[in-house]
Amino acid sequence: MENDKSLRNWLNTMNLAHPLVIAGPCSAETEEQVLKIAHQLKETDTTVLRAGIWKPRTRPGNFEGVGALGLKWLQKAKQETGMMIATEVANANHVDLALKHDVDILWVGARTTVSPFIVQEIAEALKGSDKIVLIKNPVNPDLALWLGAVERFYESDVKNLGVIHRGFSTYEKTRYRNNPEWQIPIDLQNKFPDLPLILDPSHIAGRRDIIFDLCQTALDLNYDGLMVETHYDPDNAWSDADQQITPKTLDQMTVDLKIRKQEGDEVEFKNKLSTLRTKIDVLDHQLIESLGKRMKIADDIGKLKKKNNVAILQTKRWNEILEKMILEGEENKLSEEFILRIFKAIHQESINHQKKVIND
Ligand code: PEP
Ligand code: MN
Repeated sequence: MENDKSLRNWLNTMNLAHPLVIAGPCSAETEEQVLKIAHQLKETDTTVLRAGIWKPRTRPGNFEGVGALGLKWLQKAKQETGMMIATEVANANHVDLALKHDVDILWVGARTTVSPFIVQEIAEALKGSDKIVLIKNPVNPDLALWLGAVERFYESDVKNLGVIHRGFSTYEKTRYRNNPEWQIPIDLQNKFPDLPLILDPSHIAGRRDIIFDLCQTALDLNYDGLMVETHYDPDNAWSDADQQITPKTLDQMTVDLKIRKQEGDEVEFKNKLSTLRTKIDVLDHQLIESLGKRMKIADDIGKLKKKNNVAILQTKRWNEILEKMILEGEENKLSEEFILRIFKAIHQESINHQKKVIND
């Protein structure tokens, strides 16, 4: 897939004065629930009502969605509010049913994007369709797999495409349900600047209190839209209760979020500068996290050395590290002087950590 400006057309024709907002419950639960949420969202910046009809659950036994019946409720919400409707499709049969019920936007879930076979099946079921298809990142942090899914649709002549960043699963417990790994969507955006990029803060966060900050970061990185799980009674939602917010909270959020305007030379300069700065912030954050992890390992080495009565400073090992890093530095256009300075500082901090462990 080459970068193709027509990829943005579906978004441009919406003529929005703000980033695209897709909102609605994780799952359609009852007809009343879908209609009530739809009418509340109608009073916000929301253009598209979302609701899961078939829910892919990691473990069986959780609510697996109401099935095709829910499509009628979405259709009714569309007629009553004029909003567009969106749902997740995970096989050719879902596609068929969604098309029969006039669903405007189909999205491919994270557990589906990981499987080229299923993606291919869905792409073929949609061959030549002008429906908008949004492809969530795969569960695992793999940009090629994500792009591969986009390419399968593109090659199947489905050209109204976009991607949704919903974070990546990690074995380590972090403050997120799914780690954002901002670098991956940033790489995608650099490669395909005309592929609309939408943030799903709900599945990244897994909780309510950090949704706003995630959205602000995305807007600072020039994302094109947000998909936010919304329910009038989040605590009692049948799925993903911890991460849903009310339509009222969403409305306030869109007021508080700072959206950068795209016109004017000076404004454009400032926008570009802020986007670049946000990219730097993302990398700085990764640097600190990596250094923190490195020091934790140094602590473990300290414990091991203490147990075995071995000296902290191992000159041979240290020289080997330095040589290797100077070479890697060269490959990354970093001067020897810089590498020496950084690694001396890191080494010193490591020794301090180990001393502390050994003397404790
Ligand atoms: C969802 O949007 O409700 C969903 C199941 O998301 P994901 O595929 O990102 O887990
Ligand atoms: Mn959900």
